[in-house]
Amino acid sequence: MAEHTTAQFEEYYPPLEAWFDVRAYPTADGLSVYFRNITLRKRAEQALRESEERFRALGNSIPQLAWMADSSGGIFWYNERWHEYTGTTLEEMQGWGWRKVQHPEHVDRVVERIRHSFETGEPWEDTFPLRSRTGEYRWFLSRALPIRDADGKVVRWFGTNTDITAEIEAAAERERLLEREREARAEAERRREELERVTESRTRLMRGFSHDVKNPLGAADGYAQLLEDGILGELSTKQVQSIQRIRRSIQTSLHLIHDLLELARAEAGQIEIESVPTDVAELAREAAEDFRAQATAAGLGLEVRADDALPTDTDPARVRQILSNLLSNAVKYTPGGRITVETEVRTGSGAPGDGRHVAIHVTDTGPGIPEEKRETIFQEFTRLDPEAPHGAGVGLAISRRIARLLGGDITVESEVGRGSTFTLRLPPTTPE
Ligand code: ADP
Repeated sequence: MAEHTTAQFEEYYPPLEAWFDVRAYPTADGLSVYFRNITLRKRAEQALRESEERFRALGNSIPQLAWMADSSGGIFWYNERWHEYTGTTLEEMQGWGWRKVQHPEHVDRVVERIRHSFETGEPWEDTFPLRSRTGEYRWFLSRALPIRDADGKVVRWFGTNTDITAEIEAAAERERLLEREREARAEAERRREELERVTESRTRLMRGFSHDVKNPLGAADGYAQLLEDGILGELSTKQVQSIQRIRRSIQTSLHLIHDLLELARAEAGQIEIESVPTDVAELAREAAEDFRAQATAAGLGLEVRADDALPTDTDPARVRQILSNLLSNAVKYTPGGRITVETEVRTGSGAPGDGRHVAIHVTDTGPGIPEEKRETIFQEFTRLDPEAPHGAGVGLAISRRIARLLGGDITVESEVGRGSTFTLRLPPTTPE
């Protein structure tokens, strides 16, 4: 009053539980004092301070980075983790200082989107990298929500940044793996198509070649037969023997060509199967009898144990074709001893269908097949002795293909030096 200046202060008046804005003006007669009740404003400020305190406590208790901004988006507080991660101080980061830890390629977009939220009050969400104190960038999913006062006016923003680098890397890794798998699949498909093309042209070649060679060979055999029969004039015994050798060679060649054609047909899926009620035991007996003469001529015994009827729905011609192949091999490759043909109904693992199957065994006392070759002999053009005079190595390949078309399979058990047993399995008609 002595200085004649105005005075202003805010004062809490306990009896009224109210806050007043007090202004005192010196006047000619003394002093004018104005009181303005500012309790509401004071309470709002207090409430905001308390809510800020709560957010600070919350912000420091969560594993994320967190921050608070004023209504215009100026950030005035970061949690401890933010400072730990970025290695920055509040002074550097205040207001819009956080742009310094943004990645240069993302900062413009991030600023634009967050500014839009600050202007409109819409919740904010974005994903971007943030630079750590070591200079490394990690990915964060970031969100901010507006805090409003009782009138709905935005007073603060509370934001979090969650490190999702591991998730992003896992997703990228998954994508890489998927991409690799896609490539591998495409490559496998390319190879399959290539193989199909090669097989197709090989099949065509085999078929064309076999047809072309079969006819002249047939004609040659016909003329040789005319000579052998003496129709073109009397021949000496030696000449007849030579012609018989020629004819045997022609027969062997025709046999090979027949095998090649059969293989080409099998590869082209042109082998037709018809299923009729068949007694497999009878088929086995007949097939064995077909080879008795050959076996005897080769000095081999032939035993058949197939007495009980084995009714099965199958293709008898195809079964016979397979058995002929097995018997012909047994005769071809067994220098001495015996061949046994045996049939049985079996149950057990490895059997097709419900586990019951009809089995036909062709056993010989030949050289046997080394263990590592027991699968490869079923591949085309595989022969244990490439110098052997007979066979192109396709008989077993065709037989196995046909056996599988019949719903069965062929397997071999063998002991080197003692012999082999080839087993043709077929599904039985009716389970007992
Ligand atoms: P091929 O008899 O025309 O050569 P296969 O496919 O029938 O063709 O047989 C493939 C190979 O398996 C034969 O070359 C032979 O080395 C071997 N093999 C087949 N059957 C027997 C057997 N009973 N004993 C020993 N080896 C055999």
